[in-house]
Amino acid sequence: MTDKTGTVYLIGAGPGDPGLLTIRAKECIESADVVVYDYLASPFLLKYARQEAEIIYVGKKGGDHTLTQDKINLLLVDKAKQGLSVARLKGGDPFVFGRGGEEAQLLLEHGVQYEVIPGVTSAIAAPAYAGIPVTHRDHTSFVSFITGHENPNKQDSSMQWDVFAKSNATLVFLMGVKNLRNIVKNLVANGKPADTPVALVRWGTTSRQQTVTGTLETIVEVVNKAGLKSPAIIVVGHVVSLRKELAWFDKKPLFGKRIVITRARAQASGLVSQLTKLGAHCLEIPTIKIIPAEDTAPLKKAIDNLNHYDWLVLTSVNGVKSFFDTLFDMGKDVRALGHLKFACIGPVTKERLADYGIISDILPETYRAESVVDAFSHMDMQGKKVLLPRAKVARTILPEELIKMGASVDEVTAYETILCDDDKETLISLLTDQEIDAVTFTSSSTVSNFMSLLESQDAAKLLKGVTIASIGPITSDTARALGIEPDLEANPYTIPGLVDELLSYYSDNNS
Ligand code: SAH
Repeated sequence: MTDKTGTVYLIGAGPGDPGLLTIRAKECIESADVVVYDYLASPFLLKYARQEAEIIYVGKKGGDHTLTQDKINLLLVDKAKQGLSVARLKGGDPFVFGRGGEEAQLLLEHGVQYEVIPGVTSAIAAPAYAGIPVTHRDHTSFVSFITGHENPNKQDSSMQWDVFAKSNATLVFLMGVKNLRNIVKNLVANGKPADTPVALVRWGTTSRQQTVTGTLETIVEVVNKAGLKSPAIIVVGHVVSLRKELAWFDKKPLFGKRIVITRARAQASGLVSQLTKLGAHCLEIPTIKIIPAEDTAPLKKAIDNLNHYDWLVLTSVNGVKSFFDTLFDMGKDVRALGHLKFACIGPVTKERLADYGIISDILPETYRAESVVDAFSHMDMQGKKVLLPRAKVARTILPEELIKMGASVDEVTAYETILCDDDKETLISLLTDQEIDAVTFTSSSTVSNFMSLLESQDAAKLLKGVTIASIGPITSDTARALGIEPDLEANPYTIPGLVDELLSYYSDNNS
């Protein structure tokens, strides 16, 4: 840092959907030395932070304050005084019931520079995702954002209940769930008609969004029955009736489905983003960790001897990455590969290879080792030398068949996949509480690792009613061998194939 004192960016992180972050906010997170966030700011946004950035969680889940507001303020000052640039992420907009004003005043007092990056406030976005426009020419000409948090026994209340009750404004209450009964009572006591429509939207704009509607007369009971809790937006006004017509987000085909993703975290994003777009709530419980091969000598030796090979066969994205990482580490580049022919299993592997500027010579019609074998069977492999960098433990069909065709095959370990049990407790408690609708398996090792996470549990009981989604026949066979019957299997055996199959499964079985 060149500045003596760093800048603090008070950033509106949006209401929850990571896509509702502004471009300016993203830029600030990307360049920050320190990122400070609380529970309303989506943790997804942290992926924009630099690897070296310090990430500080300051909590604030109704009451359970991890750091008090004073301590947060001092933390911001302290970090900035160290010359660091600080991204302070706040849910929604920092200046809408976000205490951003107070933080800015304190920074000013301490001579710390700050910038404010407005965000999409939940006061507008949560109703919007529930199909409720906060203004509409046929219904209301103004909207009020009101704290629902004020202590009902406060003597000198600034709440103008008579004004709220008499106006035809849309009333949007934040932080009001616990106080709902009191809000309703005050509005009705001041003359608001008891049949005025009311909606509560919890975790708006996220895949956990929950919306209930009623009237001033019924809403307390409706909310109690649904067990709806904070954080939620309360909307009072005639615009709420438009939800019937305009609801869109919760109509998505996989809306509300809680789907477990078992692949390695580094590989999960494609599946997670496709399912999330369709409305699903993805729970990432990686069962696999990918680590570099313990012994890198064989791969290095093969790379030193690339001139001896005719073919390079890559069976996974991890194989591509470890091969090229090692190649570059050894001070070589793609010019070392010019004489080679390439084969890939699967379109994603092919795409990753293309990222390095190489077009695969063989792409099988389906995405299994058997199909690569088929493709090779049309070629003269007699005497050909094949390099096969891949996982430590892998299926043997490919090298066996290539050898039968007369090729010589060098299999080298490029990476290892190991069991990841970081989220074992979470998995078991989610299953026990029946909080999971489906589990996706994208390889045999995801199934076997998943089952070993459940080791001492009664797996059949825990998985009762849970949809088992498999990426293809090999994975399904592994599942069956371990006692679980897949409810659906992708075809083609790809991530988009799996997503399509989940879609049609739920459109057939939607209860
Ligand atoms: N600055 C924030 C509001 C912070 S006050 C903003 O502009 O959105 C905290 C309150 O915001 C919560 O009690 C709840 O009423 C509301 N809130 C924040 N995120 C929400 C969400 N995703 N869905 C519903 N309400 C939300």
